[in-house]
Amino acid sequence: MLCAPVPQAPTLCLRIRRIVTRMRGNAMDTILRNVRIADGPDAQSVDIGIENGRITAIESRLNADARIYDIGGRLVTPGFVETHIHLDKSCILDRLSSGQGGLDAAIGEVARLKREFTPENVYHRARRTLEKCVLNGTTHIRTHLEVDPVIGLRSLEGILPLVQEFRWAMDIEICIFPQEGLLNNPGTDELIVEGLRRGGSVVGAAPYTDSDPHGQIDRVFEIARQFDIDIDMHLDFGPDADSMDMDLVCDLTERFGYGGRVAVGHVTKLSALSPERLTAQARRLASAGVAVTVLPATDLYLMGRHQDHSVMRGVAPAHRLLGEGVNCSLSTNNVLNPFTPFGDCSLVRMANLYANICQVGDPRETAECYEMVTNRAARLLRLPDYGLAVGQSADLAVLDCESRSAAVSEVISPMMAFKSGKRTFYRAPAVMESPRP
Ligand SMILES: [Zn+2]
Repeated sequence: MLCAPVPQAPTLCLRIRRIVTRMRGNAMDTILRNVRIADGPDAQSVDIGIENGRITAIESRLNADARIYDIGGRLVTPGFVETHIHLDKSCILDRLSSGQGGLDAAIGEVARLKREFTPENVYHRARRTLEKCVLNGTTHIRTHLEVDPVIGLRSLEGILPLVQEFRWAMDIEICIFPQEGLLNNPGTDELIVEGLRRGGSVVGAAPYTDSDPHGQIDRVFEIARQFDIDIDMHLDFGPDADSMDMDLVCDLTERFGYGGRVAVGHVTKLSALSPERLTAQARRLASAGVAVTVLPATDLYLMGRHQDHSVMRGVAPAHRLLGEGVNCSLSTNNVLNPFTPFGDCSLVRMANLYANICQVGDPRETAECYEMVTNRAARLLRLPDYGLAVGQSADLAVLDCESRSAAVSEVISPMMAFKSGKRTFYRAPAVMESPRP
């Protein structure tokens, strides 16, 4: 039976008992009772104690004057982490002039539409997307916002209020990047710098749209070092591996001591490499400390447009990269726009989509897909207080299944989530109306 407590001010008696409990060293204001934190049918149930938004105990039979949620033996994991999502251009399907197109067409379509973007309509569309994220158990987001002389800083101005408004449910980090080129687009450089001064905390890139891709990569590293911030680039987005920018990114990462602070997204060209070349490239990424984000929905939708049969998948094999020591995440990228005209912001579904495309079926590997939308994604974002451990922030998701691999294989929707120990949503279990005997 799931507990849905009614918030109310604690009585004087209750407050005194809480103070006494704290003095005894067993401080908890919330307990998740009867949770499964390990995979498999034999996993023991435990309780999670929370005080002031942090996990204070993971033990059996915790007792305190606290708000109790009976989880009923369901799986509890850290909350979902979206490392790469474009809030500013989400939910624009109703404004498109054409239905189909590849990467260049999608960029062109958004370039046309964003002339009319205002901070207000960015705000309302992004809000709709963020609500979907909350209802899918997401507790952390890195959003990629584009700047250029056409859109200016209007996307940033639309998103900044949402960072505050959604703090109760998730942490939102902003990556500023030039979608339509940097060196070929005068004024963009100044806008990136201004965006970072006004709320951006990560710098991004899209070298494949620049007249000088390597010049853009050089400049992005320069900006990152100037602000002492991390880098998250769109990179090597194409159907073949004739030329790749990844080696330059690895070189600069090593030269500037930026290992662990650089991520690259898409890298669909990795899917075109032979096993030998893929292994070599993966080892290069691992030794440089460059992480990879795979964006299965967009990559599947946009790759292979030059083919009319046996269409390539074009999704980088993250599970192979993990095997060589590369940290990887899976993320949503686009929602209801020309880059990806689909999207429910479910990272469990994204993990399932990845597993299906990349032919990952072994339970140990599907469990790793779950890690790529939780713990591994958190490591990519360098979240300091994330994880299911005493002392960490109580950012948690509850799923009605026995294991992380089952969550991915069966596309289990989270039924509730917690941010800093406070429940952010609740989905009642479906009930069959079976006929009475
Ligand atoms: Zn992107």
